[in-house]
This record gives sequence, structure tokens and C-alpha cells, in this order.
Amino acid sequence: MSSRDLKLHLTAITYGARAEIELRPTIPDSARGDPAKIDTWVQNLSMSIAKDIKHTNEWECTVCGKLARESKYNVVFMTHLPQPRAIFYIYNVCAAGENTCNQITQAENDMVLAIAGTTPNPRVAPPAVMSEHDAQMLTFPLASSCAKCRDAKTGQKGYKLFRCGGCKLTRYCCPGCQKADWGRHKKACKMIESVYWVW
Ligand SMILES: [Zn+2]
Ligand SMILES: [Zn+2]
Ligand SMILES: [Zn+2]
Repeated sequence: MSSRDLKLHLTAITYGARAEIELRPTIPDSARGDPAKIDTWVQNLSMSIAKDIKHTNEWECTVCGKLARESKYNVVFMTHLPQPRAIFYIYNVCAAGENTCNQITQAENDMVLAIAGTTPNPRVAPPAVMSEHDAQMLTFPLASSCAKCRDAKTGQKGYKLFRCGGCKLTRYCCPGCQKADWGRHKKACKMIESVYWVW
């Protein structure tokens, strides 16, 4: 195989002010030719680059329009193909846990997966009574805030952030935050091939 065959063709589609992001991560040698192993790797990849894709815009909840705090991922795997492919469908929601916006978004997610011929991801039902700690865990930082400090003030509408010059995607409030995040961000930065803002 040529070195080109080692790359996964991955498209991340974010709803709202829609963005289509092309990523070309290298498939690890240990997973090559084994769709089940590639699927596990893709699932982990979606978590490891979530921050880099989340903190990229004044994302609003696709249901109520409030500034979003959670990015929900559904993955369509086409990893059995000679050129393995995958699609991340990403919906931004105002809050995680049990709330109407989250439930409506989940129903939309399931529909997309049904159309794509993929089974929805298994979900763990939230506990009936949430402890204060659990409730806090579900309050994620604003997607509109700086990817490093995630300070609430940097997430307010109209606050000036700038994009990483490498990927032209991930946003920061100051060069200090960008520099401090580079050790973590560079992995995602290097696999982002192009970003297309649909509107
Ligand atoms: Zn909402
Ligand atoms: Zn910052
Ligand atoms: Zn970058």
C-alpha cells in the first residue's frame, strides 16, 4: 500500500452555521485492514479532537438558539471500504443531560443515522436524581469561548477571538492561550486538511 492508503477520509459536518471539515488522520498500523479496530479508533478519535472542533464559532443550540455548551457526535462508519471513510455529524446543544433541546437533537441524530443505515449509538440513561456533582459535570464551557482558557467572558457574543493559522478553525482569545494549547492541539491541527463554511 502507498502511504496515501494509510489516511482515513473523514468529514466532520457541524449544523447551525454549517461547517464541513475535511480531516486526514493516519490510520494506525495496528488497525489497518480491520474495520472493527478502525471503528474503535475512529470513536476514540472523535473524543480526542472534540475540543478542537467545538471551540470554533459562536455556535448556537440547533433547537433554541442559545449559545451552545455541548457538541453531540454521531459517527457514520464506512471503514470497510478499500479507502476507509467516516462522517461525524455534530449537533450543538445549549445543555447536556435531560432537557428538551437535548432530546429533540437526539431524535434528529437517530434519524440521520437511520437514513445512513447505521444503528444509533447506545446511550446510557441519566440517573433519575442527579447529584450536584453530576449536574455540574453536565455544565460544559461555551463552545464560543477560547479553546484553552474556556473563560465564559471570551464566549460572549461579539467577543474578539482569532483562529489558529494552521487549521484556520480552532479559536483562541490571545497568543498566550494558543501557545499554551499547542502541545495538545497540534495533533488535530495537522490532520485538518480544509474547512468550508457553508453559511
Ligand atoms: Zn437549546
Ligand atoms: Zn484564552
Ligand atoms: Zn490549528
